[in-house]
Amino acid sequence: MPSPALSLKKKTAIVVVIGDEILSGYTLDTNSHYLSQVLRDCGVICLSRHTVRDDKEEIKRILKLSLDEKPDYLFLCGGLGPTHDDVTFESVAEALQRRLVLSSAVVEHIQKKLDAINRLLPEEKWLREKMARIPEGTEVLCNKAGTAPALRFCVGQTQLFLLPGVPHELQWLIENEIKANYLEEGCRKDYVVELTVKRGESSFASLLKRIQKKHPHVKIGSYPQKGKVMLRISGEEEKEVKEVVETIEKEIIR
Ligand code: AMP
Ligand code: MG
Repeated sequence: MPSPALSLKKKTAIVVVIGDEILSGYTLDTNSHYLSQVLRDCGVICLSRHTVRDDKEEIKRILKLSLDEKPDYLFLCGGLGPTHDDVTFESVAEALQRRLVLSSAVVEHIQKKLDAINRLLPEEKWLREKMARIPEGTEVLCNKAGTAPALRFCVGQTQLFLLPGVPHELQWLIENEIKANYLEEGCRKDYVVELTVKRGESSFASLLKRIQKKHPHVKIGSYPQKGKVMLRISGEEEKEVKEVVETIEKEIIR
């Protein structure tokens, strides 16, 4: 059965998280969880989330695969810093065959940030050769929460965002620079109802299957927990969601 939400004209997104520390379990990936919540709030379907190593070939591979899916939005998170293991800009430039060019806007931004905390610019070379060299033709989004710049550009129909991995910086950028300007346009939030069934899933699985088949535009998710099952019913049309809820209440919960 095709996923019901995908049959409707909604915007889509893919999230890619970059970092060895995430894959080895040292750091909990809170960024993709946060992004999924924001996307849902904006009525955007998150098609998939991926985590890759700090490795240029891996980043290029997942970038190409993700672009092949033609999502409306693609977020690449992490690896924008000044150290040797931050290779996102180089990888994206190589994958999309764009030159890396020095951005005076980024140099100025980092200089201002360091001035504000009375720190001298450590080494001009470092800044000019690493953090401020960005793929050509990209828009710099002002990151008031940190030094690493965030970037936005279009590849075909996809808006690609490169975001810093530091969670509070990523969140600041989404809230202040991205959500209202790019994500909320024309998006409709789903109507959602949650129900609790105090029985095992297998006792109502076939009934649920029949209800789902009858309402292909409503998504019925079944999530077993200790001693109960949570059913989440969601869809764009409130009337149809309510109809499904009523049927479940009558036929399954009783
Ligand atoms: P990076 O941008 O990769 O240099 O990461 C900067 C900081 O943010 C590091 O302390 C990372 O461990 C942390 N970080 C990166 N990605 C994530 C993520 N997906 N969730 C939580 N923390 C992250
Ligand atoms: Mg990193």
